[in-house]
Amino acid sequence: MQRDLFSRALLGLVVLGLLALAQAFSTERMQADLQALLAQGPRVAGTPAAQAAAEYLAAELRKAGYTVEFFPFTYSRTRDQGTSLQVGSRVFPVQSVAGSPGRRVEGPLAVVPGAGLAADFASLNLEGHIAVVRRGGIPGLEKARLAAERGALGIILLTEEPSGTRFTFGGDSPIPGATLSLSDGGGLLNQASERAVLDVRIVTEEVQGRNVIAKRNSANPLAIVGAHYDSVPGSPGANDNASGTVAVLELARQMANSPLSEHIWFIFFDGEEDGLWGSRRFVEQNPELVRGLRAMLNLDMVGVDVNGTLGIGGSPALRALADCNALRLACGSAPGGGSDHVPFAQAGVPVLFFFRGLDPNYHRPTDTFADPVLMAQAAQVAQGILERLLR
Ligand SMILES: [Zn+2]
Repeated sequence: MQRDLFSRALLGLVVLGLLALAQAFSTERMQADLQALLAQGPRVAGTPAAQAAAEYLAAELRKAGYTVEFFPFTYSRTRDQGTSLQVGSRVFPVQSVAGSPGRRVEGPLAVVPGAGLAADFASLNLEGHIAVVRRGGIPGLEKARLAAERGALGIILLTEEPSGTRFTFGGDSPIPGATLSLSDGGGLLNQASERAVLDVRIVTEEVQGRNVIAKRNSANPLAIVGAHYDSVPGSPGANDNASGTVAVLELARQMANSPLSEHIWFIFFDGEEDGLWGSRRFVEQNPELVRGLRAMLNLDMVGVDVNGTLGIGGSPALRALADCNALRLACGSAPGGGSDHVPFAQAGVPVLFFFRGLDPNYHRPTDTFADPVLMAQAAQVAQGILERLLR
């Protein structure tokens, strides 16, 4: 009996505690942060919009009582400068794929059958041809390599996405590659041996990126909570990744008065979209700090409900500290790669990746919405993990 009364009282306390926690996160303030970031336009690394976003984050973090440092770094990036595909007298709206060499190639089209999987290339002789293949199934870079091995001079990847959507090979392609939507270029699948000219025109530019770091003191942290604040050209990047940025900013505010925040750095990464530059450079330049980390939590695309669950993936020991039930949240798993936790994981740091999945507006001009309630949920789960880990 007593025990029962005790557990009821305990339950009441837990519920009260949860309400207090839930109320502490201000969705109004998060909505204001989101609008402030979106007002800058696409936050492409190295542009005035990204600089303005970094200044906004720094000002908000200082207001919350943190010492803010910028972590500058440079890298080179290629930019499309009018890549074109001409077949007969027709010009198609192609876009170069990041990682493609800049080169003009000319030859008859050759169509790779089926979905363009490895087996579909097996019996082909593409010598002197420009390969036309559907995107998907296996990475585009693998398709480019398979095409090159069979003698292709260039490759056109036909996508479900609209023409103009930016793709990356995620590495160096041996042959020039460009994408074209199926709706604009599906006809090419019937134009085998037609003469084509693919002219991939790119320029390489130096980019100055800047991570924003908020901390309470100079001691090395035990945990890092991060989110990338940069976005791709042409996309406002609301879900990718103003959502994670605002969630981490609000989490930093919530934890500012807790002694635990003395052991945490909140880092807003730049240059993620161009290849995880901000996180890679940070890990490279801080080996000792990185060795002392007990956790790195990364929030990316947490503002749109794609799967009905909050995906959390990474270290099983850290994952076990996520108390989704207490917050009445459906939590699932998240893929291993693709964002700023990766360089930390590769350095041996236990990581968790918070991710709600790729929404239909991913990397498009229509990425204009993120839900502060969902963002707050991700931040609350992260907070619970930090409290259990560091207390
Ligand atoms: Zn992202």
